[in-house]
Amino acid sequence: MSTAKRIIRPEIQALAAYHVMDASGLVKLDVMESPYRLPEWLAKEVGEVVANLELNRYPIPTANKLRGLIKQTMGVPAGCEVLLGNGSDECITYITTAIGKPGAVVLAPSPSFVIFQMAAMFQHLKFVGVPLNDDFSLDADKFIAAVKEHQPALTWIAYPNNPTGNAFAVKDIERIIAAASGLVVIDEAYQPFADGSFMPRLNEFDNVVVMRTVSKIGMAGMRLGYVAGKPEWINEFDKTRPPYNINVMTEAVAIKLLEHKAVLDEQARAILAEREVVAAELRKLPQLTVYPSATNFVLARVAGEKGAAAKVFDAMKAAGVLIKNLSGGHPALENCLRITIGTPEEDRAMLAALKAALR
Ligand SMILES: *Cc1c(COP(=O)(O)O)cnc(C)c1O
Repeated sequence: MSTAKRIIRPEIQALAAYHVMDASGLVKLDVMESPYRLPEWLAKEVGEVVANLELNRYPIPTANKLRGLIKQTMGVPAGCEVLLGNGSDECITYITTAIGKPGAVVLAPSPSFVIFQMAAMFQHLKFVGVPLNDDFSLDADKFIAAVKEHQPALTWIAYPNNPTGNAFAVKDIERIIAAASGLVVIDEAYQPFADGSFMPRLNEFDNVVVMRTVSKIGMAGMRLGYVAGKPEWINEFDKTRPPYNINVMTEAVAIKLLEHKAVLDEQARAILAEREVVAAELRKLPQLTVYPSATNFVLARVAGEKGAAAKVFDAMKAAGVLIKNLSGGHPALENCLRITIGTPEEDRAMLAALKAALR
């Protein structure tokens, strides 16, 4: 046995590496990116910002200016603090590390965002996934029973949820918050495409923080996520953060873009309107069950036996369109396809490829 094989944790060896497909030359509708680039005038300004940076210097560890701007532009309530991560993926690690006493339990609906479970495993914590209903709605009674049984230190609620696309009922989430003796993190990665938010209500609860990202509104490449909450939480999470996690380019470019947030908001509005067009077109296809979406993607299940979605996926890819086939992971997602909303032109290409594949 090699030294690596002997030394590396067996559960890490058993993992499949997080796999993202090569999308070169394809219409890319697989990972919930915004299809829109910056207008040229703003891209130029970003270029100037980067050119003027002192790349020889470390970042300012507190990233005070950016955090202040996030508080201002994202509606963070007075008295709350903000933690920055290199993507909200990294915030998940900080939160999990901070609560990770030996024996602590992490709980989340299932299926939901896989990184919740991975972060728990990396910290040697027990992860409990509470199955959603067949239509991916939340069974609040069952979830609360699991909360009572497992007494989780940390409960994740993606609101709206990925990969199912729906937003759970607010009153159910309120009941879970009331039943939880530990921390509840509301992951609002898709808030720009959803109706509700817990951000304005942060001061109502002593066990809730809200996590968000700028990835889905046109800045996925930058890697910037944040957690907002009472200082008694945020200041502790912050101690697990490498001091220079937000690099000078991310900080400076994010400041520039948030100063022009109206541009990003406009793009998000276009995606939202386009989602309704795409969902309506998908609903016309009798072979698909289309689930409600409060995000920038639509989840649809292909009728037929095992492998039906894989066939559609392959045919679409051969026709130049990359979406995500969720089959083969979570059993509830058998024959499910996740389609990110693109530009109207990209979506027309997607729909044409999909219809041809279903024929
Ligand atoms: C995309 C996504 C994130 C992670 O976003 P980052 O790009 O790491 O900021 C977090 N939660 C959910 C539910 C997501 O879908």
